[in-house]
Amino acid sequence: MARDPEIEKLMLLVERLVSPEARKVFEVLYEEGDELSEYDIMDKTELRGSVVRRVLNILAEKGFVVYRKQRHPEKGRIIFYWKINYEGLPAVIEARKRAALEKLRTLLEREEETQYYVCPFDGTRYTFEEALEYDFTCPRCGNILQPDEDREIRLQILRQYVSMLEAELSAPRRSRAR
Ligand SMILES: [Zn+2]
Repeated sequence: MARDPEIEKLMLLVERLVSPEARKVFEVLYEEGDELSEYDIMDKTELRGSVVRRVLNILAEKGFVVYRKQRHPEKGRIIFYWKINYEGLPAVIEARKRAALEKLRTLLEREEETQYYVCPFDGTRYTFEEALEYDFTCPRCGNILQPDEDREIRLQILRQYVSMLEAELSAPRRSRAR
């Protein structure tokens, strides 16, 4: 079954942000589409109870899942039921995108401010001030320093990411089918 690319991105985010085990737990909850007890999750993921609990707590802390407590009718103990935080998830994702955008903007500003010079022979990079000090000659090997052309590529990539995130953040939220 082909999955929504947005969901695939979300799974990848969970995996990178928490762990591959967290992705497994999150996938099981997603496939279920409803709440599951941690025992159901243990069965379905074949992960140990301690791992499942740790992962669920981290996911809850980050706003990816929510839980409900209920006393077991016969056994009398408290059971936790977990589900994906469908209501809160768009806000969680948006906050992450905003944070990423801020970071990228800072990187871009820093990169834009600094002109680097590079030695064509050994690849050493120098700031403009350093290059000026060395009279645009590599102090290691004596070659003439060249303006760093890779910088243009880095700037292009950074600008692309920034405008992509800006577009995503300004687009109206899609309503997600449950
Ligand atoms: Zn050199």
